[in-house]
Amino acid sequence: MLGPDAVLPGDSRAYLTDSAEVRNLGGRADAVALPSSTEEVAGVLAWCYEHEVPLVPRGGGTGFAGGAVPVDGGVVLSLERLDGVRAFDPPLWRMHVEAGVRTATVRRLARENGLLFPPDPGGAEQSQIGGNIATNAGGPHAFKYGVTGAWVTGLEAVVPPGEVVAVGGSVRKDVAGYDLKSLLIGSEGTLGVVTAAWLKLVPAPAAALPVIAFQAGADSGCAAIERVLASGLAVAALEYLDGGALRAAAGAFPGDVPDGAEFMVIAEADGSAEEAARLRAEVVDVLSEGALAVHAPDEPRAIAEVWRWRDGVSYAVAAQRGGKVSEDIAVPLDRLRDAIEGAVEIGRAHGLATCSWGHAGDGNLHPTFLVVPGDPNDLERAERAAEELLALAAGLGGSISGEHGLGWVRRGQLGRQWAPRALALHAEIKRAFDPKGLLNPGKKIAA
Ligand SMILES: Cc1cc2nc3c(=O)[nH]c(=O)nc-3n(C[C@H](O)[C@H](O)[C@H](O)COP(=O)(O)OP(=O)(O)OC[C@H]3O[C@@H](n4cnc5c(N)ncnc54)[C@H](O)[C@@H]3O)c2cc1C
Repeated sequence: MLGPDAVLPGDSRAYLTDSAEVRNLGGRADAVALPSSTEEVAGVLAWCYEHEVPLVPRGGGTGFAGGAVPVDGGVVLSLERLDGVRAFDPPLWRMHVEAGVRTATVRRLARENGLLFPPDPGGAEQSQIGGNIATNAGGPHAFKYGVTGAWVTGLEAVVPPGEVVAVGGSVRKDVAGYDLKSLLIGSEGTLGVVTAAWLKLVPAPAAALPVIAFQAGADSGCAAIERVLASGLAVAALEYLDGGALRAAAGAFPGDVPDGAEFMVIAEADGSAEEAARLRAEVVDVLSEGALAVHAPDEPRAIAEVWRWRDGVSYAVAAQRGGKVSEDIAVPLDRLRDAIEGAVEIGRAHGLATCSWGHAGDGNLHPTFLVVPGDPNDLERAERAAEELLALAAGLGGSISGEHGLGWVRRGQLGRQWAPRALALHAEIKRAFDPKGLLNPGKKIAA
């Protein structure tokens, strides 16, 4: 069906894992399929459905939930060859791309034409737009601009038993049917295979100016974050690093880190050059209160360095002990401090060095337990700590995943935050799309 160079053996290692690899997630596949068109995807899915073979859709493999890992054999279906831009209409602020186009390519194309595709998850050079849609990925700028789903006006997907459907399109508004598009968004490859998407764009702001404030600890840091919100300043991003994350990444920070800094707040002011400058001045004012130092670069290179450094925080933290078990909880904004401090306490109780960072404005944090890769003792303690962390998130009125999804690592945990009837509806939706349960089995299981 696909030709000899488009089916790889099942032991092709690059297709058996994702960013959650350290959590002992070794996959096992019978084959890897590399289709080049929607029709070929439909052919593979139809074949798998007929022969009762599990199918695991795969994007860039950057996910942190084990979602793209074939945990129990079957066919890995990698979308990397569906990498065409079907249409790009800058005057109409829209783009129609295939699922395998990399996130960074979409952003670059938009930018070169004066436009912005705002979702900016950190693994953008490797992740694919289809993977971003399947996880409804966020990122720093989701605070002002919303998550990936907010920028998708239509989807083309292959659904069991092998049919191509299009929901939405280049039309910007569409409430005609039940919102199947939103059901597919964030479904982590368990309801259908996304093959293409219609994306909307916005004119790129002329300027985007970061302001970085160093604080003595989580108390004063969270108070600073709340002041930014209360002051009504519409910043584009509002990020934080706690003391442990800051210490891990401080060495590479493109500026001075003052002694005693145990918390960092990163805000960004964007808009026209005048708007951004005015907003930045106000943000500097608000963040200076009680800060050890405030850093506000205005040279494009220095600004780019700040965000490059921010993208590297995850790797700098992992480098501390060689590996990390990262979680992704979201809590109401007034509980952020409790979540940050609670995560460190949980880690301490299990004898694990722990830190967190994340998208403070969205109450979305990545508490992270440091481990030595392959050390079963470390891993076991980290998994127990992660369980307690999910309980903490639910107890604070939050969510067990803000942007990474349930995947494999958080399967069966949704009951912590949903009532039984909601869990039953979740399972019924899965059955309606995938009656044989062959699409990404074992993933996004609610209870
Ligand atoms: C350094 C780093 C920083 C990150 N920062 C962020 C961040 O700020 N915000 C954030 O949200 N995430 C972040 N991530 C996580 C990750 O990049 C996102 O979850 C991303 O959306 C995954 O895309 P992918 O193409 O790599 O998907 P994969 O990892 O390949 O797959 C993820 C899930 O989507 C499914 N899937 C993939 N493609 C399709 C498709 N075409 N159709 C149906 N299902 C599909 C898979 O089955 C799997 O369940 C980060 C990751 C790294 C490594």
